[in-house]
Amino acid sequence: MRRSSPTRPTTHHRLLMRPRRTNVGRYRTERPTTCIQPIALRDNHRQMTTFYLGTHVPNWLWRTDVRHPLFVSNRTLGKYKKLKKANVRWCLDSGGFTELGMFGTWLTTAYQYVQNVARYWDEVGSMDWASPQDWMCEPQMLKKTGKTVTEHQHLTCHNFVLLQQLAPHLPIIPVLQGWMPDDYLKHAKMYADYGVGLDEKPTVGVGSVCRRAKVDGMKQVFSDLNKDGLRLHGFGLKQDGIKLFGNNLKSSDSMAWSFGARMAGRKGIYSCGKKHETTKNCANCIDWAQMWADKVSTIGEQ
Ligand SMILES: [Zn+2]
Repeated sequence: MRRSSPTRPTTHHRLLMRPRRTNVGRYRTERPTTCIQPIALRDNHRQMTTFYLGTHVPNWLWRTDVRHPLFVSNRTLGKYKKLKKANVRWCLDSGGFTELGMFGTWLTTAYQYVQNVARYWDEVGSMDWASPQDWMCEPQMLKKTGKTVTEHQHLTCHNFVLLQQLAPHLPIIPVLQGWMPDDYLKHAKMYADYGVGLDEKPTVGVGSVCRRAKVDGMKQVFSDLNKDGLRLHGFGLKQDGIKLFGNNLKSSDSMAWSFGARMAGRKGIYSCGKKHETTKNCANCIDWAQMWADKVSTIGEQ
């Protein structure tokens, strides 16, 4: 009896197939030869190009006096029943640090999350990209979830693949997670095992690094990943991180200005220099936020 020829794998199967490593890039997956090759992304960055100003106040998206692109959380923007077109570029944070920190797991399902991202994409627009539902690897987060760094990395890869399958048209980025420097390189290789070619992506996030700037080996990790053609966004990286890693970053974000303003407020200091009638500090003050962002965003040029 004649056997039928094997059927062509579906997209779903191809995503799950273990890719063959090529000698072109460590994190590139095998691509069918008939595909049009993507534009080369190996223009390694000499200095950081974009600083996203983190804010608890999503309605800054609609102001006309915002000088910096914004970084807004799904946890705050998701509360808005009515949305409108943004006047500024922005990125969406999935709010994982808060959700995992509070519940030890993601309660928001992948389906609910892509529905939210799709709503923002359509109704707000000007979105550069959205974070996935990644699993941060700070020791307090591991304690909360009861899982290991490797488990968090697998869950992060699994979520990214799932989000891509649910909504391939949305600009959701892959994020590298880890704690020790080598963790990030291992996670980059893990993505290839999940069929994700990181060096083909316009942006790859690096998470759990906001207070890791001075850790030995982190600078080398950013340098190695950049040399491998990855366009990196450093989550929560402010002055010290940008000074050290800026040459290997495409972008970063921070809302450290808000925490600093809250601390200053305890001493009766208004960070923007002007007393507010309705608030005790500048933790949500757009003048202070922009003064701070003006300074941080020019660090790479100094
Ligand atoms: Zn103020």
